[in-house]
Amino acid sequence: MDCLFCRIVKGEIPSNKVYEDEMCLAFYDIAPQTPTHILVIPKLHIASANEVNGTNSEYVAHIFEMIPEIAKKAGLSGGYRIVSNCGDDACQSVKHLHFHIMGGKKLSESMA
Ligand code: AMP
Repeated sequence: MDCLFCRIVKGEIPSNKVYEDEMCLAFYDIAPQTPTHILVIPKLHIASANEVNGTNSEYVAHIFEMIPEIAKKAGLSGGYRIVSNCGDDACQSVKHLHFHIMGGKKLSESMA
């Protein structure tokens, strides 16, 4: 399987890491859409939110446990937005579950 984010997890493609542990990796988005734009991914390949189930949901739970620490490390003291695009209508471009952590400015009230 040739998954971009699996290759980042393996270290085959470099990333600007913010946080890493045995279950997840957080790194800066290569094309930031906010002053601070981080991606948090499970180290296990999960294609999207549609593929979260009882056998892999511990990775998602763990990511959400770690997000406050990741946001703090990135200086997002004023708050942040968590986004996960799922499927074509949401313009998901990388088919490996990821959570965008976006902040560093007052974000728009519009999310669509
Ligand atoms: P999505 O469109 O929700 O699937 O988000 C994929 C995100 O991955 C986009 O915001 C891209 O800018 C980002 N991205 C793609 N390749 C890389 C990379 N090599 N390193 C960091 N971020 C990347």
